[in-house]
Amino acid sequence: MKDASLDLGTLSTAELAALKKKATDQLADTHRRGRFALFKPLEHQRPWFASKKQILAAIGGNQMGKTTCGAIRLLSGALGTFPPSLGGTIPASWERLDCRGQRYLMVAESFNTVIAKTIFPKVNEYLTQEMQSRPPKKNAGTKLPEIIYLRSGAEIHVQSYEQDPASFEGPTWDGVWFDEPPPQAVFNAVRRGTIAKKGWIWLTATPLREAWVRDMIVMPAQDDDDPMNEFADVFGGKMHDNCADCYGGYLPHAYIVAYLASLPPEERAVRERGEFFNVSDLAFGNLSEQLHVVGDLW
Ligand SMILES: [Zn+2]
Repeated sequence: MKDASLDLGTLSTAELAALKKKATDQLADTHRRGRFALFKPLEHQRPWFASKKQILAAIGGNQMGKTTCGAIRLLSGALGTFPPSLGGTIPASWERLDCRGQRYLMVAESFNTVIAKTIFPKVNEYLTQEMQSRPPKKNAGTKLPEIIYLRSGAEIHVQSYEQDPASFEGPTWDGVWFDEPPPQAVFNAVRRGTIAKKGWIWLTATPLREAWVRDMIVMPAQDDDDPMNEFADVFGGKMHDNCADCYGGYLPHAYIVAYLASLPPEERAVRERGEFFNVSDLAFGNLSEQLHVVGDLW
């Protein structure tokens, strides 16, 4: 019997039931394992996952897989384990991992565009129903999930930079993922909320704006005499690091070259190498790669 020409009308009730059971079992198995369990980073992304510093800033060009890495890191925190490729163990049942009382925050530029169209589709590639203890609480206005409840006991809250910085005051966090650089007032309010729990801060960014990140995080993190040095790791990278032809990534070499050649120099500095807009001539000017930048990660 060829699947392509399967005629359900010719099957007995018992055969149909067996077929249904097989399909249901396969689907359950796929959910159980999930794409989270199968995730494998590109080699040059591993140091970002391995760093134990509190603030991990991945600042690089476009299309480097930063959103995927942010989603995996957030879920790893809230689930209580990494994917096996990063040293974790997938439990037979997600409630075996005890993250009761832990709270994580996922925050990005806007609900209706970035969160709805980029962040949730990416997170939902890895977040299965089996990881969740009940359906998310949805925001009355946007209808998007506002709190995701995991079987580990952890919660993932969702906010956007459109919200008043004051709305970020109050909660304490075990981990926060900023997709793209936040307004400084939001960062400061949220960071305060990570102190009591020694919470993580994961920042994934192509720095088209919010140049304060360069002055307050990127440069201080690379200054041995600055208090930020102990707390933050900054990872740089170029679009070409994700080249399929050169490095086994996902982007075709010829398309990268043609795209970058079409950009004005300042925009190219941001999109290709993640250098800060308007300050791209200065951004990494006094930065020695062997001393400070941890590889070409993105
Ligand atoms: Zn290439």
